[in-house]
Amino acid sequence: MKTVFTGGIVVSSYGCRRLDVLVEDEKIAALGNDLDATAARIVDAAGCYLLPGFIDAHTHLELNNGRTDTADNFTTGSIAAVCKGTTTVIDMATPERGHTLKECLAKWNRMAEGKSSCDYNYHMSLIEFNEAVAKEIPEMVAAGVTSFKMYMAYDNLRTTDAELYEAMKAIQKVGGMLGVHCENGDLVNALQAQFLREGKTAPKYHPLSRPNALEAEAVNRYLMIANEAGLAVNIVHLSTREALEVVLRARENGQKVFVETCPQYLLLDDHLYDSPDFEGAKYVCAPPLRSIQDQQALWQGVIHGAIDTISTDHCDFNFASQKTLGKNDFTQIPGGLPGVETRAELLYTAGVATGKISIEQFVALLSENIARQFHLYPQKGVLAVGSDADIVLWDPNANGVITAQTQLQHVDYSAYEGFQTVGFAKAVYLRGKAISENGRLLKGQQGKFVFRKIPEGK
Ligand SMILES: [Zn+2]
Repeated sequence: MKTVFTGGIVVSSYGCRRLDVLVEDEKIAALGNDLDATAARIVDAAGCYLLPGFIDAHTHLELNNGRTDTADNFTTGSIAAVCKGTTTVIDMATPERGHTLKECLAKWNRMAEGKSSCDYNYHMSLIEFNEAVAKEIPEMVAAGVTSFKMYMAYDNLRTTDAELYEAMKAIQKVGGMLGVHCENGDLVNALQAQFLREGKTAPKYHPLSRPNALEAEAVNRYLMIANEAGLAVNIVHLSTREALEVVLRARENGQKVFVETCPQYLLLDDHLYDSPDFEGAKYVCAPPLRSIQDQQALWQGVIHGAIDTISTDHCDFNFASQKTLGKNDFTQIPGGLPGVETRAELLYTAGVATGKISIEQFVALLSENIARQFHLYPQKGVLAVGSDADIVLWDPNANGVITAQTQLQHVDYSAYEGFQTVGFAKAVYLRGKAISENGRLLKGQQGKFVFRKIPEGK
């Protein structure tokens, strides 16, 4: 089957060009101005940008946090993703203690296969590191999973620094990518215990138990260890000015560091934890929302390229029935925010429409840089001959409002209730097939596992 997209502006990190795009079956076959449209279906993209499908490299679409399950699962979360332009997610696969990575991979495949409406892959979490896990690292890479996740906070997930170092060396050997949740877990525990002893149990003590210094210290330690191991690494959901300064210093010393942040750290701030009626619980995530000053520093990082990628850390729990588990103890509030649906609209509105960033930067941050970093490029992340035809027809003039009532995410609130948006994924194509139109799903559950391969010489 052939489709020609006519009249749109094709965007990459390098620039914008008015080009028609010919799609044959699942791939882009040609770009140009006088393409042979014989026997092709024509899609009129006039007035729209043609963007490579967005990639969300940080989701927890279906997760049990030990007490409760996320409100979304692969079926619902992927619909919310793809209908707003995210055609690929890299979900956090998290093994249970004592289980092999292979068992975890099989479990995640069972959750996603035949259910996901967008393409997918996983970061494999290493919650312990030993000989047996080391042997599984090349097996994961051979299975198409080339990136790993580790934690410096959360007692059920974090490892020792020695384990982190050993894991880095194993990942370095295969040319893989590591992302780490950087917060000083010991100090989080100590501060939480202190607040609870003092009878301070409300959501507003959540950010106070995870101050900026705890992130900056962990980022610094992580980068020092990575430097010893000789591994280029990723920092997930970086949230503070201090941590970004640590990164800049490491880069000045020649270290290769990738930085991800999330819309909530660019658009929301810690005043929200003072909301009445326990509503602060809606914003409990780790790292917590930060100050306006941090937000401004992160925006500068986005604008000047110190921040490479923006993903969501989508991990949602219902306010009425799940966040309330922490009604009398903020440490028991399930952590995480919904977000896989709204990233592009939020960033386009707050970034591109305000003139803070260009449309090229928008594409780089939400798609191209992510594809390059995580071994998906050029299959994903770019509209080029031979690439998957994951295409977003982006209407830059559409207006909308984010509300829980109309969202596709299967959760009872939005962290951005009432936020007025500019720009909208008018139509979304996944590997050449029309998947959504005007935010509505046409035909779902056609997502596939995208096999990732580490390029030679890496
Ligand atoms: Zn996460």
